[in-house]
Amino acid sequence: MTNSGSFDRAKDFIAKKHRLLIDGEWKDPIASGTVQSVDPSTGEPLCNIAAADANDVDLAVQSARRAFDHGEWRGKKPVERRDLLNSIADKMMAHIEELAYLEAWDAGKSFKKVAKIEAPGAAGAFRYYAGWCDKIHGTTHDISAPGNHLAFTQREPTGVAAQIVPWNFPLGLTAMKLAPALAAGCVCILKPAEETSLSALRLGELIMEAGLPPGVLNILTGEGAVTGAALVSHAQVDKVAFTGSTAVGRSIIKAAAGNFKRVSLELGGKSPNIICADADLERAVVSSVFGAFFNCGQNCVALSRMIVHEDVYDEVVERVRNEAEKLRMGGWDDDNADMGPLISARQRERVLDYVKIGKEEGARIIAGGESLDRPGYFMVPTVFADCTPCMRIVREEIFGPVLTIEKFEDADAVIRSVNECDYGLFGAVWTRDIALAQKYIRSLRIGKIVVNTGAAGDRDLPLGGFRQSGWGRELGYEGLALYLETKSVVVSED
Ligand code: NAD
Repeated sequence: MTNSGSFDRAKDFIAKKHRLLIDGEWKDPIASGTVQSVDPSTGEPLCNIAAADANDVDLAVQSARRAFDHGEWRGKKPVERRDLLNSIADKMMAHIEELAYLEAWDAGKSFKKVAKIEAPGAAGAFRYYAGWCDKIHGTTHDISAPGNHLAFTQREPTGVAAQIVPWNFPLGLTAMKLAPALAAGCVCILKPAEETSLSALRLGELIMEAGLPPGVLNILTGEGAVTGAALVSHAQVDKVAFTGSTAVGRSIIKAAAGNFKRVSLELGGKSPNIICADADLERAVVSSVFGAFFNCGQNCVALSRMIVHEDVYDEVVERVRNEAEKLRMGGWDDDNADMGPLISARQRERVLDYVKIGKEEGARIIAGGESLDRPGYFMVPTVFADCTPCMRIVREEIFGPVLTIEKFEDADAVIRSVNECDYGLFGAVWTRDIALAQKYIRSLRIGKIVVNTGAAGDRDLPLGGFRQSGWGRELGYEGLALYLETKSVVVSED
């Protein structure tokens, strides 16, 4: 595997000097700042990345502003935007292994899985939104005002979009941000996470090769508190799309208030996974353990809160322990690994703190609970049984390989407890009883529910949350609509 040309190209890319993409050119940051990217599988430094400050942010915003207000992008025919998005997908597919090496190495993910699923999925997002470019339309209205009128609405791009991406699915989430914005005719300023900028930088090169006009895509790497904060508070940015922590989401709402930016937020989750007495336990447990530990639990839709009916509780706890103990850990280049490292030493500390809290709260640890004695940020898959709804490990997003299990007897109490949680992003129900499934679907205040399956994501299906899980829905048409304004028009025919 590591002898392939794609691997050598990825290695060469990592070794080169990383700059900012501003106005169609790769530029050094004005103050020459850098941030270090670290290989989570070893803890060793990987490379330095340019760090933009407020002056670089201002240059990128001016460039994006020009590209939107006076540039050619908005004036392109829908089919021209469609063709360009398809060309980006083609470019990505032609470099898919190289992108996968960069992503896997930088984010501590399995190369095999990224090359097979995540990177082609990111290219697929450009193809999906390419398909929307020539299907954006308004409505006509028979209005009641005196006289004769032609009244209609038209949909227009929102403008300059600042897009802030986290480190858990860097390439996939970058595509989920850029593709709908470009399809709508917006221009973008992308801010990747400081931990994982490499795949976005290489994607930026490929996008420019595909022929995107200068200024339509700018990429600013750097620290969230500096680069990100300057971007979301800039008065000439029209829209902020953010995926990340609830705390930063809250600060973005405040920063965006200055010029009433449009804001969409995809924040945390604490997804309930309700296993009823009549569930197919074998299927439920295998799928749930995968759902809890996929991407080392660093997943906003991780099924991290299992709630099990008392009649099958003991059996499920035992099955979960067995499944969790089977999981094999390994670095990005280990094709047989089920689970990789956490993204950083900081994230592992945070997760280990929660393990301590869980023990202090009286939960019973039945698997894992410690880090792995090897270089890199590995942690053993951890399961707490005998949890209760008021525990912090049950209520708060841990974002690591920690699964909590609670026992229940009354469906109404479960519904109340789930709806009282700060988060409302995702959840699963396992039952053969259609009426019971329907009761949960109707009553749970969460953005997406799956029944008798653990995942079933699709780019046509909107994703987003109730309560503190965020504002708006990404993916599908709703994801495109985040980048559109509605203009109403009335023309007198008299
Ligand atoms: P974070 O919210 O700080 O970082 C996410 C992105 O926001 C990064 O690109 C970062 O540079 C940027 N950012 C940080 N501060 C900013 C600011 N003031 N203004 C603008 N942008 C800013 O997340 P984190 O600290 O890396 O992770 C902490 C926790 O956040 C995790 O443990 C998890 O609970 C949650 N998280 C959620 C998701 C998700 O998919 N919803 C992703 C990553 C992290």
